[in-house]
Amino acid sequence: MNQDKQTILTDKWGRQMDYLRIAVTDRCNLRCFYCMPAEGIQYLPKKELMSYEEILRVTQNLAELGVKKIRITGGEPFLRKDLMQLLRKITEIDGITSLNLTTNGVLTYPHLKELKEIGIDHINLSLDSLDKQNFFAITRRDEYNKVMQTLDGLLDHGIKTKINMVVMNGRNEHEIQAMAKLTKNKNISVRFIEEMPFNGSDDQNAKIFSAQDILDELKHHYPALQKIAQEPNSPSTAYQIPDYAGSLGIIAAYTRSFCGTCNRIRLTATGSIKNCLYDEGVLDVKGILRTGISDEALKETFIQTVQRKEVNGFVAEINRQKNTQITESMSTIGG
Ligand code: SAM
Repeated sequence: MNQDKQTILTDKWGRQMDYLRIAVTDRCNLRCFYCMPAEGIQYLPKKELMSYEEILRVTQNLAELGVKKIRITGGEPFLRKDLMQLLRKITEIDGITSLNLTTNGVLTYPHLKELKEIGIDHINLSLDSLDKQNFFAITRRDEYNKVMQTLDGLLDHGIKTKINMVVMNGRNEHEIQAMAKLTKNKNISVRFIEEMPFNGSDDQNAKIFSAQDILDELKHHYPALQKIAQEPNSPSTAYQIPDYAGSLGIIAAYTRSFCGTCNRIRLTATGSIKNCLYDEGVLDVKGILRTGISDEALKETFIQTVQRKEVNGFVAEINRQKNTQITESMSTIGG
């Protein structure tokens, strides 16, 4: 293949994909009500998950097409056995310059030293409440102390940390101020995210606490809030409270105002490639790997798949809804 590596994975709208998010499992040890029903979802039998060899092969081939950044997510990634071995192998792939992880923090603390050693770039810690009781009400699990231990450990190990808080009407919007205050002395980024319709059912929250609502709430408590430069391709609009050590971000994940700069594709726990969080999966990569496709043909398939990426998440969602009204759980997609 003699195309320029920089431009191979380009969609028909001119966007270049250099970021792959990999859900390594669909299992989770929390039951956040906005993500999964209380009884959980129908987990895949183990052989239906992508093996580590398959994940590495996909990553290697996509790296050869210009993917540079990887995020490992799930389900809860640390529920998958030998995760650290997979992470190490990913760092050895030529062309991968940034390895990141999204975790709920329950099982993460014992791995922090090794994560630092292998050069993890950023860890995103999902944390929707700083109040132990409210944490339990949202996650339906009593794991608050372990998550807070992980947060402290991340800072002690000097690992770049982002806290992701999904803001939900009537559940935790009253904690926005307290979350923002975490950035006073801690050099972390706290990002407030709109709830999205991915809870594994057809019963969705009718009233979203929007990005604008979040901004209004922040400005109410911190009138001096300043907009700051945001990272390239980031879905997050960045802010800072003057003289605070860390920064804030608002992610309009439901309003979808950032599709124009999208640079990401996803590999779900079920082994399908998604061009968009809101599409229904555009390539059964597990299936084609298991029928013995060559690396050359695999790369060609990836190139063609990316070209089919929809212009934005609204179009992708309309197409998906032609087939089903039931949303996947975010635990399968990986967020
Ligand atoms: N278990 C890991 C964790 O909790 O970070 C990784 C997987 S989890 C599905 C990834 C992110 O998706 C979490 O931050 C979670 O809060 C977010 N998420 C799940 N369902 C969501 C929804 N319906 N709307 C917005 N964010 C959601």
